[in-house]
Amino acid sequence: MLRLPVVQKLGELLKPHRRRSEVATGSSLSLRSAALSDVGIVRSNNEDSAYAGSALIAVADGVGGHAYGEVASSVAITTLAALDGDIAGEELVYTLANSAQAANERMADMIVERPELHGMGTTLTALLCSTGNRLGVVHIGDSRAYRLRDGALRQLTTDHTLVQSLVSAGKISAEEAAADPRRSLILRALDGCGAAHFDLSVFRVVPGDRYLVCSDGVSDVLTEEEITEKLSVGSSADAVASLVASALEAGSSDNVTCVVADAVEGHPEPSTAPVSVGAVEDWHG
Ligand code: MN
Repeated sequence: MLRLPVVQKLGELLKPHRRRSEVATGSSLSLRSAALSDVGIVRSNNEDSAYAGSALIAVADGVGGHAYGEVASSVAITTLAALDGDIAGEELVYTLANSAQAANERMADMIVERPELHGMGTTLTALLCSTGNRLGVVHIGDSRAYRLRDGALRQLTTDHTLVQSLVSAGKISAEEAAADPRRSLILRALDGCGAAHFDLSVFRVVPGDRYLVCSDGVSDVLTEEEITEKLSVGSSADAVASLVASALEAGSSDNVTCVVADAVEGHPEPSTAPVSVGAVEDWHG
């Protein structure tokens, strides 16, 4: 039989030991981020949108005729951008899931009002840094997130493409997938039609980590070795400039968009303002 003092001790053990404010000030990391988006050498319009903030970085690659890809990627980025700020680690995954769901619902509402928007869609890959040195990732489509740590590149997302599903099933090799003419065919997107089936994951952040989120206009034309090389040099702003220039030199026929962020200790400097690039820059939704 348990005596009362023991029960009280158990209760204390089950209580969270640290209040959120203590966690936020005690182990705070922020992102020093930079973004660039280029229409590229073939397309006449840029359907990519991206955001680089001090807690959130995100890329959305829109699809759909008549500039509706611009609408889709802009909706995704503006919705997710509202999360940029202090998010408690334990709420990270729910917060990201709710925001991606909200973007999808916002698109559904727009389609009801303007039926011509039906058929628009967008990829979305967003990384959110939270208290407790956690990094949440929400991902749908074929934009990609990578982490560079101690010189080693790791892809944090899995493409929702036909060719990736064939690679995962052991039907074709990664080399064959990279050369497959169907490689840009995505199986999932945010499109405002029904539920959005996005991936959610959480990683531990280490100060000094560098993160890249990019559209397929980059990952399609640069090898992992080339991405590692360009990503390793200089500041986050230097790295985005180098990656975008390299993708254009490599002859990307698509819009080219990169966001790079360094995980640094402490709160962001007050002078650093978030940046939005691509279609969302000119969007007034
Ligand atoms: Mn693209």
